[in-house]
Amino acid sequence: MDRQQEFVLRSIEERDIRFVRLWFSDVLGGLKSVAIAPAELEGAFSEGIGFDGSSIEGLARRSEADMIARPDPSTFQVLPWRGDGGSAGTARMFCDVLTPDGEPALADSRNVLKRTLSRAAEKGFTFYTHPEIEFYLFRGTPADSVGDGRTDPVHPPVPVDTMGYFDHVAGGATHDFRRAAIAMLEAMGISVEFSHHEAGPGQNEIDLRYADALTTADNVMTFRTVVKEVALQQGVYASFMPKPLADQPGSGMHTHLSLFEGDRNAFHEPGAKYELSATARHFIAGLLRHAPETTLITSQFVNSYKRLWGGSEAPSDIAWGHNNRSGLVRVPMYKPGKAQSARVEHRGIDAAANPYLAYAVLLAAGLKGVEEEYPLAEGVDEDVALLSGAERRAMGIGQLPASLDHAISLTEGSELVAETLGESMFEHVLRNKRAEWVDYRAQVTPFELRRFLSWL
Ligand code: GLN
Ligand code: MG
Ligand code: MG
Ligand code: MG
Repeated sequence: MDRQQEFVLRSIEERDIRFVRLWFSDVLGGLKSVAIAPAELEGAFSEGIGFDGSSIEGLARRSEADMIARPDPSTFQVLPWRGDGGSAGTARMFCDVLTPDGEPALADSRNVLKRTLSRAAEKGFTFYTHPEIEFYLFRGTPADSVGDGRTDPVHPPVPVDTMGYFDHVAGGATHDFRRAAIAMLEAMGISVEFSHHEAGPGQNEIDLRYADALTTADNVMTFRTVVKEVALQQGVYASFMPKPLADQPGSGMHTHLSLFEGDRNAFHEPGAKYELSATARHFIAGLLRHAPETTLITSQFVNSYKRLWGGSEAPSDIAWGHNNRSGLVRVPMYKPGKAQSARVEHRGIDAAANPYLAYAVLLAAGLKGVEEEYPLAEGVDEDVALLSGAERRAMGIGQLPASLDHAISLTEGSELVAETLGESMFEHVLRNKRAEWVDYRAQVTPFELRRFLSWL
């Protein structure tokens, strides 16, 4: 047993933990959890805990169903919302998912990110990310909107307030909410940098402090759970659905990216234009060139494409700009003396992405640009959305896929995504997404009924 594992066992005793939840992610970024008794933990560290992987989205075929979850002791945290004030508590650890022979399972998202991070490490790079996570708070429960989801009529969800961007209102519901959510995140060791009301009614944003990408991906998983728990405690519910309201902004998960070489920010070069190093420029070029094929992973649901049409500050153009929020990639204004904070912001990724897979494909795309020294076109200064089609073409600005169907077809041929996810997960994601599209395509929507029923 190593020191971290011993630390976990000691903490469990000292803090009277009765349940240890083993967490991992399915292929879509859904959180999976199995609780074990503390007495099982030594075995879990050495051999892992077996479970039936075939019942979990994307994890295994029925014929190779046996899977093993082995907890990562560095991710041990007590869950502040469980237990009765200091005793009989519950803790969690993220797990690596393994096959019975102890090999990483092909469908373990966390391992996909780890593998990609080690590819970066071979080149001397550590990958840091800093997510800005947006979400809506709605009144009541989801059942108030969708009933049983099949036969009952669907009503738009009702936001908890009518406020907008940065609004501060005495006694505002979302203010208390953010306070409680942030306290809980910090109790779990997740530092929060900013939080504010977002532009939509009931919409919030909470930004996590930058850290290495595996930590931030784990933090995004924890964040979504904490936010949902706190919402329930307050009698409302939280949704990370990319576009829950047709006429209000969607929920993005803008993520700031940087590569470090040891302690040095490899994106920063004093005196260069915008203080951006050649590495940063190639990285941006990689993000842009591979954007069409990686969008399926960063915007993975049929609903994601309702957000990505270019309105409400969500991008549809594959462009970058310095301090320009209209394209896919923004280079934030450099603050003198803050070499550590030189970075690029990816604005396409949404709040419902699987953070492990999304960070893996963004890193792979950026690294490819660095390895092959992709040239970077001039950044765009104007609002890209206001350019004409001809102007866009002249500037070489492409478009993000406009639908899930379109995204699938762009990813099908992608060597980069296949390599990053591994063939078997790649095929699985494509199958899952095609099935989602087939279901969606068969729908007759309220829009169609309103427009066509009496007219045609
Ligand atoms: N909600 C917008 C999106 O979907 C972002 C708005 C903002 O943070 N400026 O990406
Ligand atoms: Mg923000
Ligand atoms: Mg925002
Ligand atoms: Mg942002």
